Amino acid sequence: MTPAPPAGGPATIIHLVPHTHWDREWYEPFQVFRMRLVELVDQLLDAMEADERLAFTLDGQLATVDDYLEVRPEHRERLVALIAAGRLAIGPWQILMDEFLVSGETIVRNLELGWHAAERLAGADAAMPVGYLPDMFGHVAQMPQILRRAGIRHAVVWRGVPAAIDRNAFVWRAPDGSEVRAEYLVGGYGNGAYLLAIPDKLGEKVARYVETSRAFYGDRSILAMYGTDHAVPSPRLAEIVAGVNAAQPAGGVEIRIETLATYIRAYDAALADPAAPDPAPAPVWAGELRSAARANMLSNVTSARIDIKMAAARAERTLERYAEPLAALHGGTWPERLLELAWRRVVDNSAHDSICGCSQDAVVDQVLSRFAEAEQIGRGIVAAAIRPLAEATPRGRVVVVNPSPHERVDLVEIDLDVPAAWEAVELELPGGERLPTQLVERPETVLRRLPLTGRQVPELFARRLHGRELFGHSLDGHLIEREGATSRLTLLVDDPAASAEFDVDGILDSVAAAVSAGPNDPWEVVVVRGDRRRLLAAVSAPPLGPTTVAPVEAAGAPARPIANAVVVDGRTIRNGLVSVAVDELGAMTIEGGGVHLEGAGRLVDGGDFGDTYNYGPPAEDRIVDRPSVVVVAQLESGPLRGRLDVVARYDWPIGLAAGGTARAEVNAPVEVTTTLELRAGEPFARVRIAFTNPARDHRVRWHLPLPAPTDRSAAEGQFAVVERGLTVEAGHGEVPLATAPAAAFVHAAGATILLDHVTEYELLDGRELALTVLRSTGLISRNENPFREDPAGPEVAVPDAQLIGPWEMAFAVMPHAGSWADAGVLAAVEAYRLPFATAAGRATGSKEAAEPQASGPALPSPPATGLALDGRGVVLSALRRRGSALEIRMLAQTDKSTEARISGLPIGAAWDVDLLGRRGDDIALAEDGSLRIALGPWEIRTVRFEADASAR
Ligand SMILES: [Zn+2]
Repeated sequence: MTPAPPAGGPATIIHLVPHTHWDREWYEPFQVFRMRLVELVDQLLDAMEADERLAFTLDGQLATVDDYLEVRPEHRERLVALIAAGRLAIGPWQILMDEFLVSGETIVRNLELGWHAAERLAGADAAMPVGYLPDMFGHVAQMPQILRRAGIRHAVVWRGVPAAIDRNAFVWRAPDGSEVRAEYLVGGYGNGAYLLAIPDKLGEKVARYVETSRAFYGDRSILAMYGTDHAVPSPRLAEIVAGVNAAQPAGGVEIRIETLATYIRAYDAALADPAAPDPAPAPVWAGELRSAARANMLSNVTSARIDIKMAAARAERTLERYAEPLAALHGGTWPERLLELAWRRVVDNSAHDSICGCSQDAVVDQVLSRFAEAEQIGRGIVAAAIRPLAEATPRGRVVVVNPSPHERVDLVEIDLDVPAAWEAVELELPGGERLPTQLVERPETVLRRLPLTGRQVPELFARRLHGRELFGHSLDGHLIEREGATSRLTLLVDDPAASAEFDVDGILDSVAAAVSAGPNDPWEVVVVRGDRRRLLAAVSAPPLGPTTVAPVEAAGAPARPIANAVVVDGRTIRNGLVSVAVDELGAMTIEGGGVHLEGAGRLVDGGDFGDTYNYGPPAEDRIVDRPSVVVVAQLESGPLRGRLDVVARYDWPIGLAAGGTARAEVNAPVEVTTTLELRAGEPFARVRIAFTNPARDHRVRWHLPLPAPTDRSAAEGQFAVVERGLTVEAGHGEVPLATAPAAAFVHAAGATILLDHVTEYELLDGRELALTVLRSTGLISRNENPFREDPAGPEVAVPDAQLIGPWEMAFAVMPHAGSWADAGVLAAVEAYRLPFATAAGRATGSKEAAEPQASGPALPSPPATGLALDGRGVVLSALRRRGSALEIRMLAQTDKSTEARISGLPIGAAWDVDLLGRRGDDIALAEDGSLRIALGPWEIRTVRFEADASAR
């Protein structure tokens, strides 16, 4: 590992790693920082070519390389030569993400993108095999497993490392038991940045650095990260280092210029040789790293710009759970490039300053537009994937697709053409079974009445008719009535039975003939649409597969009784599994699963003199948590869906007094509408909170008192469910708030809150869960933040982070006794987060097939089968095509060993792959043709298999 020491005693080696930390966008937008990057890499290439002693580490992310080469494609070979020589370290990530605010799958795709881009640029193993995580605001529990399953045995971390780690290296263990050697960047990723800054005092500075490092390094050699944010290295570095080394006495200090890969690789030899003595018997840390003992944790980025977190969740879920799986199973040509473009946007946005919402407003605008684009591509892929199913389904029927890998019932809301004469409507499944429906809306059939003269009627067509389009509808027929003083022209639009080839010229000709005799005669033109109804039905669909429904006239006995139907009774809504009662002040009692949650839904508004990183209350806070008026209105009464609106009026202070000493004395009225929704058969209450935010510098939280005190919460996120206590470790000058992120759900004694997006929660005093609904702040970093001593960035104004204007947030509350695992929370998460997709049938057959019939249109059997993934605690993370194979990534979201079963398709050869797609062991098929895969607790597993192409 180290060369023989010079005579006179072993030298202390300083491994000097020149680098820069490159925030791609932050207090300046991407293009501004990129111009600096181009300048930096230009200088770097010149310097490294001029002095072959120089080495450099490009911040562990391929983004720095891509962004440079996009401007300087002609310098590609210069970069490749330095990488090949081992002097320039790149990757392994595509971008340095935030770990808590994106999905586990996004973290995996980030690594996949970065690793493969490095390979394409500079050959196999070009990426630095080090999980470099220098600036992330804490680290997720499963990171060691993610790294190990990509063949990486090392992590390098800074923030979040707890006080218990008292040296420069430790063993970091994931919930599944995977371990990496973690290098702790004592003092941060710029700990050696100023080591050689003062030419007259080089020896003195180096000696002092060695001395202060001893506490963590003992007599081991020392890592010094030489560089900082957006910093250009000195071209004279090697010369300076040579000077320092030459001036050292025998047995003094030897500085070596290395890449981080070179430094870390030295430990691989030690790890590979079990006989070799451990260079540093390391303490073990299991689980996430969220301590503020020696560096800012900046934990309230979770609630900064919540709109970004919402957009991230929408984009991720669209790609992970709809676009890829449905395109893989039901689509035509695999949309590889479109998915790459969409994922690239999601991964780019996962950069810690981007997803955290601690950036300039212009940056956030770009982040939101990237997420929107990713979601738009995803939705387009879903539509294209379902289109073959819709095209094989007759008009009048609706295709319903289940995104979950197990059979499920979901409430679908669909618009159907239904004859006006039908009193009640049922939906018929392919097997003939009939489902009851709930009417949501029956729109007016007369769209317009226009009093015109005979002369004006043809003018109407001349101006308003484009092809068949009239007033935004399709003109499909007409009727002329000439009785009485006023003649009438009825125009029939949007007729589901109309032929695609219908020619409107026939209508124009007969109307022209009818009006020609009396240009001044009065006419009434009536635009009429056939009867349509918006209906709800609880439809069952196969795993990741389709079913179809068609409207039929309800006759005789009701289709089948609705299990756990919803009943709304004044201020109470219930379905036999869960009930919610609202009192005069708007407080709710939620009951279910043997648990009473009293006083739920207190909305607490307080001041925030903090910034995007850290909440910080004003010196004298004024809490507003009592509405002045509460009105409860029934929106829907069941039996499939019931909804209550609870409208509460509050007076929130409009901002803070000057200097942040207190909240403003002036209040603004705000009407908060809380919509409570229960669905038949669901054991949870859906909650949606909407208001127009009139205030600045404040935090709004939704409180849920627990039925019994507890000292821990369990939060889902990034392939794990982590337990957290009531306190967090501090030390570096942050007030230790136990606010933390949760992705799909958070659980504490007697209640689980199902979440739509990564949400900030706090277990208050062990008695209440508080969810942050909105946090309004106006500065990236406030120098005088009352809850943080060390500033987190520049004091740049971000007025848009006040989020003035319309605001909405949704979640669901599931009361239950016992643990989340035993209460069926994972199934509830699927039901809450993954609504069925629907598409109207498009097959045009006989007229009979297109018109709703008493027995429903004739039906071919659904053309495609889905795929089932079963097993206690087994969760689907990804399903996509890889070449001719299907790849499925699953997670054992349980602390017990389990077995996953993959079935539903004819399966050929099957084999394991790692997270980078490298082939592992073959997997034998079970006798019934399914794949049965034993999974350890919290194991992430990726397998590929050949599926019979005709089955897709
Ligand atoms: Zn950073």
